[in-house]
Amino acid sequence: MTPGTTRRQAITMAAAAALLPAWSRASVPPGETEVVIIGAGLAGLAAARLLQERGRSVVVLEARDRVGGRCWTDTARLGFAVDLGAAMLRSADINPLVAELRRRDVRLQSDDGDFWLFDQDRSGEAARDAEMHDYDALGFAYDKLDDALLDARTLRSDVPLASRVKLDSAGPGGRWIDLAKALAGPLHVGVEFSAVSALDVPRLAGTGNDVWLPGCFGSWVAQSATGLPVFLNNAVVRIDWNGSGVTVATAEGQVKAEACIVTLPLGLLAAKDGILFQPGLPEPQREALGRMSMGLIDRIALQYEAGTFEAPANTQALLRIQGTRAMSLRLNAQGLPLVIAQVGGDYARDLEGRGDVAMIAAARSQVRAMLGEAVDRRFVKGIVTQWGRDPWSRGSVATARPGFASARRNAGRALTSSAGRARVLFAGEAFAPIDWIGSATGAWLSGRIAATEALRVLG
Ligand SMILES: Cc1cc2nc3c(=O)[nH]c(=O)nc-3n(C[C@H](O)[C@H](O)[C@H](O)COP(=O)(O)OP(=O)(O)OC[C@H]3O[C@@H](n4cnc5c(N)ncnc54)[C@H](O)[C@@H]3O)c2cc1C
Repeated sequence: MTPGTTRRQAITMAAAAALLPAWSRASVPPGETEVVIIGAGLAGLAAARLLQERGRSVVVLEARDRVGGRCWTDTARLGFAVDLGAAMLRSADINPLVAELRRRDVRLQSDDGDFWLFDQDRSGEAARDAEMHDYDALGFAYDKLDDALLDARTLRSDVPLASRVKLDSAGPGGRWIDLAKALAGPLHVGVEFSAVSALDVPRLAGTGNDVWLPGCFGSWVAQSATGLPVFLNNAVVRIDWNGSGVTVATAEGQVKAEACIVTLPLGLLAAKDGILFQPGLPEPQREALGRMSMGLIDRIALQYEAGTFEAPANTQALLRIQGTRAMSLRLNAQGLPLVIAQVGGDYARDLEGRGDVAMIAAARSQVRAMLGEAVDRRFVKGIVTQWGRDPWSRGSVATARPGFASARRNAGRALTSSAGRARVLFAGEAFAPIDWIGSATGAWLSGRIAATEALRVLG
């Protein structure tokens, strides 16, 4: 066991590892199927499961050597399993994926950790507990932004969210405005507040009823692939959709199908060096893709010795910022001596550029500023994500540039044969129903929607 790991935590880790399916490592896909699915993230797996349940033949081609994509539980590097992609499911009372998990008797935990705010002196080093009026000020600014998102729903055309809110530092939101903006921008959708569209962002608060699978959402997603024909290490390089069907090529071979569901992250769909569509994507679709981009959110997980934090599980801790470099911390994350730090937008991009060691140092310094040197001395080990540099995601969540919220619909339009049959369908978080964009729930829903459409095509 790693220092600081208790017997209970080691059991948690083993349980999460046991959730992982035993993979068939066969890498050469069959030459023909009814539906070929590109990508074994949550969208691709949800689509494959639905089609398989309806008795259809499917093949799932996945570029990585694992399934789950941006749902990923790391079970190896720290003393316990930790989710480095999706972890929390929002608005559980109205969340269809949560309803599905409950149907399958998956154990979910409410997100009922404390919320701690820290203020910072001029030196930017020491921090102190914020006063009650500071909590109120941040709450005021945050509510203003969420209200602006709600009001924007009546707009005919998209505008920058920043143009819909009036917040000044002399007002009630006062010194906490920059942090509120970071919570609505980089920490929410992975782009700076000035680049947030008013119509292309999920509400900030949701229903306030969030749940998580303790440290193993990614493992659950991986397990959900059991029994599906997933072919790992099969990066698709070309999709021919010209003829009577679709032919999809990887370095291992070709798969012919009646229809194809593409679940690539938007960053790859829009990339110049991405998959070659033959014929090419229609101009309006390429234009729409150009009006979207991948926001960046990264996680830094810090392991400490057992008993380091006197905080309820999953306590969210935030430090006041001036400017844009905000970091959100979860203390005793998953009920373990673990801090999960989250950064987004330009700050995340900058940290990725400086590398793992600098990312871990930045997160440790934030913990130190809030909780003191004594805590830092109990640090054990840290790991980081670099979703922006990940060749198979190139970012964290898709966003539309302000003014172009409608691009999302056009970017995911199905490709139809000359006979009017949808041949290539698009799914994934980028093309989810608007209330769930950017989320695991959205990915799952969009996969099921595309599979239902594929069933219609197959007749
Ligand atoms: C740091 C972070 C934190 C997050 N936190 C949350 C959260 O708490 N709650 C939440 O609901 N959501 C969260 N999300 C969002 C959530 O993880 C995603 O919305 C969801 O996982 C996307 O699923 P997907 O199937 O659309 O895409 P992906 O999971 O990216 O799946 C696409 C798959 O396609 C594969 N692929 C790429 N190129 C090719 C190719 N050429 N050939 C074959 N395969 C290819 C990829 O390897 C990948 O497996 C978070 C995301 C990140 C990055």
